[in-house]
Amino acid sequence: MRVIFLGPPGAGKGTQAAKLAAHLGVPRISTGDMLREAIANGTPLGRQVEPLMERGKLVPDDVLIALVGERVREDDCAHGFILDGFPRTVAQAESLASMGLGEVSAWSVFQIEVPREELLRRLSGRRWCPRCQATYHVTSRPPRQEGVCDLDGTSLIQREDDKETVVARRLSDYDQQTAPLVTYYRERANVRRVDGNRSMDAVLEDLKTAVEVPA
Ligand code: AMP
Repeated sequence: MRVIFLGPPGAGKGTQAAKLAAHLGVPRISTGDMLREAIANGTPLGRQVEPLMERGKLVPDDVLIALVGERVREDDCAHGFILDGFPRTVAQAESLASMGLGEVSAWSVFQIEVPREELLRRLSGRRWCPRCQATYHVTSRPPRQEGVCDLDGTSLIQREDDKETVVARRLSDYDQQTAPLVTYYRERANVRRVDGNRSMDAVLEDLKTAVEVPA
């Protein structure tokens, strides 16, 4: 089972990918999480990408292609995986297609759609645990104690790239570089549109049902 999530920042890809991965028993590959982990660990990759990510800019394709190319060859990916945040450009999609992972026409490709005002509301209210990467929302998913992670007690922060000016840039990059991927995949696979402007559980139920039906 191989799954790709398409959709703008704030559409809920990360949350849904994690839940669907647990349901299917396959790993979720989140490139954003992998890069944030590299930054937290101070690796050479982390030092290279930190200034770009802080400004909400995309990391160069070759960096992502190498990162994902290695990750999908690990043993836990043998029976499938869910990609979250990759591919984000047509060049990344083309590289993914040449990684020897089979025809994309047999993959599940989901396009999560959410109105722009709702994306802005979600992103500006998002809070993040820098230790375990859990995400919260100040109104729709608040932690039990304000500003503190439920899972490990770390103080929550607003990610640099969720700040207002950076969010505007991420959404415009999405329109220019990532939205064309929808056309790319529509020509090669059965892209399933999912209304992401509903409760997390309702969206997840749709995904669980759709993933059972052959592409
Ligand atoms: P995310 O957590 O998926 O929103 O990703 C956070 C940031 O990581 C993005 O704003 C980019 O700077 C970087 N990033 C993650 N995945 C990719 C990708 N596939 N291509 C380029 N940059 C990426």
